[in-house]
Amino acid sequence: MVVIRGATTIERDEKEEIQAAVKELLDKITLSNRIEKSEILSIVFSSTSDIHAYYPAKAAREAGYESSSLFSAMEPEIDGGLPLCIRVMLFLEKNILPKHIYLRGARVLRKDVAEKFNVAIDGPAGSGKSTVAKALAHDYKILYLDTGAMYRACALAAMQACASLDSEEEVARMAETLSLDVEYRDGVQHTLLFGKDVSEEIREPSVSMAASTVSKYPSIRAKMVEKQREIAAKMSCVLDGRDIGSVVLPAAEFKFFLTASPDVRAKRRFDELKAKGHDVNFDDLKKEIQARDLQDSTREFSPLKVAEDAVVIDTSCLSVQEVLAEIKRKIQEKI
Ligand code: C5P
Repeated sequence: MVVIRGATTIERDEKEEIQAAVKELLDKITLSNRIEKSEILSIVFSSTSDIHAYYPAKAAREAGYESSSLFSAMEPEIDGGLPLCIRVMLFLEKNILPKHIYLRGARVLRKDVAEKFNVAIDGPAGSGKSTVAKALAHDYKILYLDTGAMYRACALAAMQACASLDSEEEVARMAETLSLDVEYRDGVQHTLLFGKDVSEEIREPSVSMAASTVSKYPSIRAKMVEKQREIAAKMSCVLDGRDIGSVVLPAAEFKFFLTASPDVRAKRRFDELKAKGHDVNFDDLKKEIQARDLQDSTREFSPLKVAEDAVVIDTSCLSVQEVLAEIKRKIQEKI
């Protein structure tokens, strides 16, 4: 007995879409596995709870899969699950090595059978990119790389070494002996400086501006970008930063640029820092964010800018879930 798995997604819950998607999926499975329709004992479908317009099993029957026993079921609604998705399992009495087929948006479900891909999410401070990038990576079960954390760790190292942040030479000298690593525990990124976990320390407001300053220097950027490319080349990941789509991974499969008004961005940072127990002043924070924006977007090397082929999303009036849904929709559209 062999079991072949597959999945696909549709754009709209419509009978014709379901019929076309089921036919495409089953035909690809039979073609890739070199099997005849008549050899399939049974086909079991499950579809997400947002699909009501038609039974996938009925669509299979109409697509010529008549001799197999067919069955469709509806999956429970799972938070963050891939929307409008049809999954299938084919059972055969044959001795073959199964080739599982994942099409359209469902390619993200099986990184092992789908090809590697990278998602670049750039934008200014407080645009919501790290929250969304984290959630996207979680839903797609791929790695999230917070590149800002790397610049923050560099800045912290320079501050600890009492290097003058305004001197590229001093910061670069410090960076020569820098031991900076990112590690993942339970899917959460931990930033290590000389082996010590500094993930919390680098979030201190004093480190934010320092990170923006040290990240201006080409020697620092070169080091960080090399590390980021190394990680992204090995596995599918979502990277957030300022220059991911434009410089780090210009060939990233999916690129997004998030923006939001300065007030909204300052409010988000304010709430975030307050929740962590920091004593912050809204106006000071807004000024700091604006100064950082200016420094990040006017620096000579790899400034914060929208990559030509990036999808721009203004998140000012959108919830995290709405931004996430929009990004997933755009990814599906492009696949
Ligand atoms: O995103 P986050 O606020 O943690 O980034 C801190 C600083 O690091 C930014 O203000 C920016 O100057 C710098 N950065 C960068 N390139 C990236 C990510 C962050 O220059 N890819």
